[in-house]
Amino acid sequence: MQVLIATNNKGKKKDFEALLAPLGIDVLTLADMDEPFDVEETGTTFEANARLKAEATANHYGTIVIADDSGLVIDALNGEPGVYSARYAGEAKDDEANIDLVLERLQGVPEEERTARFVATLAVAYPNEPERTTFYVGTCEGRILEERRGTNGFGYDPIFFVPSLDRSMAELTLEEKGAISHRGAAIRQLAEAWNAR
Ligand code: IMP
Repeated sequence: MQVLIATNNKGKKKDFEALLAPLGIDVLTLADMDEPFDVEETGTTFEANARLKAEATANHYGTIVIADDSGLVIDALNGEPGVYSARYAGEAKDDEANIDLVLERLQGVPEEERTARFVATLAVAYPNEPERTTFYVGTCEGRILEERRGTNGFGYDPIFFVPSLDRSMAELTLEEKGAISHRGAAIRQLAEAWNAR
């Protein structure tokens, strides 16, 4: 079975591949399609954006689509960057600039107040059947480090500390990340729902 993921993000693609390949599911992303297609993320919640991306992409290509809207929620920043995680430091969607901005805004905030979580909301949509869209949400609790650690992963992984493993998300292998990550949790719920059908 093949499934289209509505993303151009190579990091997300790797996460999905690691989690869906064992289920015998091949992952395609927008980068594999002949014709480019992009959806503007105008929603103010992860669910709204996941729905937008999944339904528009499913309608466009006429196939079942999974969309992931995800981000980092930092308590000391009142939930920022949240749905704006990809473009926190501007439209360039620059991971390094985003990390720099978070570290700057958290300067002087003590360790116990640097709590945060990654959230991933998946939407599964079928072409022109919006009433069939379903959602799966996964979260991963952690803490924002004062400097980068590790080089694996993508986005905010180098500054996200996972207390249960005593490492940053960027110090984990893909398999280790999948076992504890927000995306992993959401995909496992999706897989369970599909297996139960
Ligand atoms: P989206 O493409 O609008 O869902 O934006 C997701 C953004 O949230 C990414 O560009 C990253 O900045 C951040 N993000 C989501 N998931 C992860 C993750 O697993 N690791 C690190 N950053 C993530």
